[in-house]
Amino acid sequence: ARRKIVAGNWKMNQTPSQAVKLVEMLKPLVASDEVDVVFCVPAIDIISVVEACKGSNIKVGAENMYFEESGAYTGEISPAMLTDAGVEYVVLGHSERREYFAETDLTVNKKMHKAFEHGITPIMCCGETLEQREQGVTMDFIRQQVKVGFLGITAEQAQKAVIAYEPIWAIGTGKTATTEQAEEVCAGIRQCIREMYDDATAEAIRIQYGGSVNGGNAAELFAQADIDGGLVGGASLKEEFGKIVNYR
Ligand code: 13P
Repeated sequence: ARRKIVAGNWKMNQTPSQAVKLVEMLKPLVASDEVDVVFCVPAIDIISVVEACKGSNIKVGAENMYFEESGAYTGEISPAMLTDAGVEYVVLGHSERREYFAETDLTVNKKMHKAFEHGITPIMCCGETLEQREQGVTMDFIRQQVKVGFLGITAEQAQKAVIAYEPIWAIGTGKTATTEQAEEVCAGIRQCIREMYDDATAEAIRIQYGGSVNGGNAAELFAQADIDGGLVGGASLKEEFGKIVNYR
């Protein structure tokens, strides 16, 4: 069986000193032998969060990274900078980065390759707008995001990847997808991976749901056959995150 993975995405919240206090508060609440726990934090918080997480079960992730090794890319963060700082995961292609920072499936794909080259586990985000859902093109759109995102990625690499299905209309709105809607798309993503690779890869890859996950809905969502945990925004900044990690 796949191990569940619950990741917090802090987005643009928490200064470095606030970050350390938040980690200290959450550390005992998110202790778990059963679930992988990841805090994806702003780049400037990474060093202090890695330090604060030492000796705990918490792994640290970045919220973005660039796809070049080094050089004249003012303001960007390289994969080697992340690994040297102790980062093990990176969120790629979050809908907010696609919307506000011109990320495309192709830039996400370049970043996927770089992440694997450096041994960083990508959490690749996908998800439809409300308009797309109403037009009935949800699965076509997501299949395209997954296909392009994973172009040239080997089966061995894909087995280690994490995909986060985050319907855009459910992000930060308090409007969670129904369990049925979430499971339907996560199962569709797994089927897409099966067609692109093979059964072994489809069974190994972990698929999270994200979008208004909270202490009250996590248990039902994570109990679904194809939902292997969650990517949590707002509730990852509160005590409630402990309830989500220990949802059972
Ligand atoms: P919320 O949990 O705040 O809806 O955010 C979801 C998200 O975008 C996580 O990446």
